[in-house]
Amino acid sequence: MSFAPQKKQSYGADPNSIRESDKYTTEYVRGFVEKWDELIDWEERANSEGRFFIDVLKARQKQSVLDVATGTGFHSVQLLKAGFDVSSADGSAEMLAKAFENGVAHEVVLKTVHADWRWLNKDIHGKYDAIICLGNSFTHLHDEDDRRRALAEFYAALKHDGILIIDQRNYDTILDHGFSSKHKYYYCGNQVSAKPVYVDDGLARFEYSFPDGSKHNLNMFPLRKSYMRGLLRDAGFQKIHSYGDFQEEGEEKDPDFFIHVVEKEFCNE
Ligand code: SAM
Repeated sequence: MSFAPQKKQSYGADPNSIRESDKYTTEYVRGFVEKWDELIDWEERANSEGRFFIDVLKARQKQSVLDVATGTGFHSVQLLKAGFDVSSADGSAEMLAKAFENGVAHEVVLKTVHADWRWLNKDIHGKYDAIICLGNSFTHLHDEDDRRRALAEFYAALKHDGILIIDQRNYDTILDHGFSSKHKYYYCGNQVSAKPVYVDDGLARFEYSFPDGSKHNLNMFPLRKSYMRGLLRDAGFQKIHSYGDFQEEGEEKDPDFFIHVVEKEFCNE
C-alpha cells in the first residue's frame, strides 16, 4: 500500500468494481482535500452539531481524545478549543497536512499521527479516554476483516472505561428507499452537492460536485445500522447508544446520519 500523494483520482475503466479498503489512500488527492472544507463548511457544521460531542465527552468525564479520522481537522480543532487533550490521526498525509494548517489558522497546534486504523497501535502509543471516528469515515473499509481489525485496534487503544464515538450515513434508507438528504448535517456547504451515483449492497459510490465544475468521488461500503451495531458488540463493546442526526432515536424520522456512542465498560445509568 502506498501513502504517496496523488494529483488526480483514478478509478480505471470500471469504477464500480473498486471495492478495496486501501483505496482511500488515493481518493483524498490534493485537489479534493483543498475542496473538503467547502463541502463541509466549518461554520454551518459547528452550528448544526452544536455541543453534541463536547457534551457526550464531558458527561463521561473524558479528557484525552484520539481523533482517528482527522480529515481536515474539524473535530480535532473544536475539541482542542473546548479544552480536551486531542491527538489527531489519519491514514492520509494530505488530510493531516491540511488539518495542521487549519489548526494554525484557528490558533491551535494539532498533534498529528499518520496511521492506518488497521495497524493503529503500531503508531499510536498510550491509551485514550475516548476515540472519535466521525464524518462517515468507517465506511471506507470495504472488507469485513478490515472492519473487525480496525475496531479491535480502537478497542485496544482505549482505557478500560473508554468510549468510542463513531458515525455513519443512514445507508438503510439509501439501500431500501433511495437517496435524499436534509442537507443540514456534515456536508453543509450550500454551493456543493454530495450524492450517490451508484449503489448496491457492497458499494455506495458518491459524487461531490463543486461550484467551479470540479467533481470528485468516494467509493464506500454501505453499512447497515444493525450490522454496524453487531460489529461493535462483537469487538467487545458493552454498551451502544445510537442517535439519529444528534437526536435520541425515534425523535428524528429518517435521519441522514447515525452517531453511535459506544462504551467499553458496562455501567448502569
Ligand atoms: N472526520 C473528517 C470529517 O468529518 O470531515 C474526515 C472524514 S473523511 C470522509 C474520512 C477520513 O478517514 C479521511 O481523512 C481518510 O483519510 C480517513 N481514513 C479512511 N480510511 C482510513 C484508514 N483505514 N485508516 C486511517 N484513516 C482512514
